[in-house]
Amino acid sequence: MKIALVTGASRGIGRATALLLAQRGYQVAVNYHQRAQAADEVVRLIEQAGGSAFSVQANIADEAQVMAMFRRIDQQPGELSALVNNAGILFQQATIEQLTAERINRLFSTNVTGSFICCREAIRRMAWHHGGKGGAIVNVSSAAARLGAPGEYIDYAASKGAMDTLTKGLSLEVAAQGVRVNGVRPGFIYTEMHADGGEADRVNRVAPAIPMQRGGQAAEIASAVVWLLSDEASYITGSIIDAAGGR
Ligand code: NDP
Repeated sequence: MKIALVTGASRGIGRATALLLAQRGYQVAVNYHQRAQAADEVVRLIEQAGGSAFSVQANIADEAQVMAMFRRIDQQPGELSALVNNAGILFQQATIEQLTAERINRLFSTNVTGSFICCREAIRRMAWHHGGKGGAIVNVSSAAARLGAPGEYIDYAASKGAMDTLTKGLSLEVAAQGVRVNGVRPGFIYTEMHADGGEADRVNRVAPAIPMQRGGQAAEIASAVVWLLSDEASYITGSIIDAAGGR
């Protein structure tokens, strides 16, 4: 059975992606950081629907924990063929004058370094020159990488810009190794992440400025991610899909 690892799958976009990947026949490794119960609930929902999944705790900002997570996946009978670098964080809305090195480093450790290390471990398992069977990676970036998130969190936006460059560079580095690497840039999606920025209702506030006049649902992002991972996207690598209602 093909295994798909989704980081940050206890809620939001990661949860929706895990549920859809299970429907498509993957065994899903449901990574979480703190919300064990929520991750177990995702596993339960998948199993209830006849699918296969297991939860795996790891703080992706911690290299040793990431390596332990991949070793846990190695113990499964199938092989890792898909990675979704979805876990991401943001902090209280702020201007540059309020940013500290500590905050920026904390944010980059998760959003950027964490994604890099997950990619490294996945490539070590998927790449043909390692005896792997190939695979696909999708990095969940953000429209913020293009828009910059002024007055809200330019540190977060910049971390997503770094993810886009990771997508481009890694896609070229492993294109001849059977591994495709793509990205999805969601726009304003109804999840609980916005409360972490101090504005739970942010999506409704910005909705009138979105060409499609509405925020997006996590399932609409999951569809794009799962399509990029699928064989239907077999000749696509280094691409980034904007899923932002036209924004
Ligand atoms: P949520 O805040 O709803 O969920 C975040 C998930 O990431 C949780 O499962 C959380 O796990 C996990 N996570 C956080 N930190 C870590 C860590 N250090 N190690 C492992 N897992 C971690 O976020 P969304 O679903 O809204 O966002 C998912 C992705 O989509 C993020 O990368 C985000 O930047 C991006 N995005 C979201 C948009 C939106 O409007 N919602 C727009 C554009 C991009 P736990 O709960 O266990 O702590």
